[in-house]
This record gives sequence, structure tokens and C-alpha cells, in this order.
Amino acid sequence: MPGESDGWIEVVTGVMFSGKSEELMRRVRRAIIAKRTVQVFKSHLDDRYSGIRHVSSHDGEKIFAYPVSTSVQVAEQVKGDTQVVAVDEVQFMDDGIARVADVLADSGCRVILAGTDMDFRGEPFGPMGPLLARAERIDKLHAICVVCGELATRNQRLIDGKPAAAEGPTIQVGGSESYEARCRVCHEVPSATDAQGTLLG
Ligand code: ADP
Ligand code: ZN
Repeated sequence: MPGESDGWIEVVTGVMFSGKSEELMRRVRRAIIAKRTVQVFKSHLDDRYSGIRHVSSHDGEKIFAYPVSTSVQVAEQVKGDTQVVAVDEVQFMDDGIARVADVLADSGCRVILAGTDMDFRGEPFGPMGPLLARAERIDKLHAICVVCGELATRNQRLIDGKPAAAEGPTIQVGGSESYEARCRVCHEVPSATDAQGTLLG
């Protein structure tokens, strides 16, 4: 990376199931091997997206993932001697996370962010656009489209197994919907009237 001693922002992005969390953890484990001081944060806005409370390094060392819901909570909990700050599920953060990431990078931190770049409609998700614009490095990962087997770039929201209408909320906490990774061709976002027509038809 440019200027090894300086800070920077790197974003791991892409559709759900593309391996963003795996890649974030891989980078965190390697930073621990390099004896860097690391803090990991994870948005706990929606527990269905969780799965890890700890990051384990290869030698069994565990690192705690701080549950956070706001960018202020990240800023407040970063310790003075932390060299690497990682945030998973960063798409759920408020817009202030862009400023927090900039301040941390300016102060010499390596900032690793992982989050899905698009909502279920295919629109930019929350703070992801500004974060991607600020990042020194971006890796966009792909999953496999569960319909056709091509590379998936889109988050398909399903309600009762059917494509969900565009008018639904971006984040449905505690909802009964599910998600699939799909390619652009197989991704379906009906309008509410279309979705109703499908139900009636
Ligand atoms: P993300 O953080 O991007 O949601 P994870 O790191 O949690 O992704 O999970 C990635 C893993 O999900 C893959 O290694 C694979 O085992 C699994 N997986 C499930 N569905 C798919 C899919 N449609 N395409 C690719 N991987 C998938
Ligand atoms: Zn497809």
C-alpha cells in the first residue's frame, strides 16, 4: 500500500455471500500475525447478519468484535494505540462513518471496511458510495447467482419466496424476508403494484 507508515482506507464490497466477512477476517488475522494492534467492530443492527462475535487467528488467539450501531460508537471506542480498525457490515452505519474513517486514516490507522454496496433494489446502500469514493483500495467480490450460476452482483430480497417490491424499507429489522445472490439478469425488483399483481395472479 502507498506510504506503509501512513493510514489509508480499504473497502471490501460486493453482494451478500461474496465472502466479504471471510476476507475481512483474513486481513485481520494477518494484521495480528504482523503484531499490529487491531480493533474489530461489527454493526449489530440486524442480528440475522451476525455470526461472529470473535475473530480467531490461526494460532487460536481470539479478538473481540465490538458490536456497534453508530459511527460515533466506533470513534469513541478506538483506543489511542490501535493501528488497524476493521468494521464489518459497514453498510448499516450512518453517514458519519465516512468522516470517522477519514479521521482514523489521517491519524495513521489502516481502516478496513466490509459492506454490501447495493440494497435489494440495486441502489447504493447507505454510506457505501461516499466510503468507496474515499478508499485508497477497493475489492469488489462476487458470489454465484443461485438462479443461473453466473457471477452474482445483486442482493435479491424474497418475501415468502417471491421477489420483494421496490417500495419496501431498505432495512427490514426482524422481517420474514430472505436474501439470495443473483446476477443483473436474474435480479427482480417488481413495483408494489406488480408484486400485488403477481400475488393476485
Ligand atoms: P459476505 O460477508 O459477503 O456476506 P461471507 O464471508 O459471510 O459473505 O460468506 C461467504 C461464503 O458464503 C462463501 O465462502 C460460501 O461458502 C457461502 N455461500 C453461500 N451462498 C453462496 C453463493 N450464492 N455464492 C457464493 N458463496 C456462497
Ligand atoms: Zn443469474
